[in-house]
Amino acid sequence: MGSTLGIDDNATVDVKKIYYCKKCKHEFDERLHRSLFVKTFLFWLPLRKYACYYCKRNYYVFR
Ligand SMILES: [Zn+2]
Repeated sequence: MGSTLGIDDNATVDVKKIYYCKKCKHEFDERLHRSLFVKTFLFWLPLRKYACYYCKRNYYVFR
């Protein structure tokens, strides 16, 4: 059995974009699914929904 340990050439660096709450300037805690309304009518908008636990609100953010 050969060892599978080694350097993975296919490894990709996931550069995550971090978004912050406009109100409290905290980093968003969770990414949420968009509402049905947004999915249906605003699907063409680059919107993302995030939850801020700090001010207990959900925000839509433009990418
Ligand atoms: Zn907040």
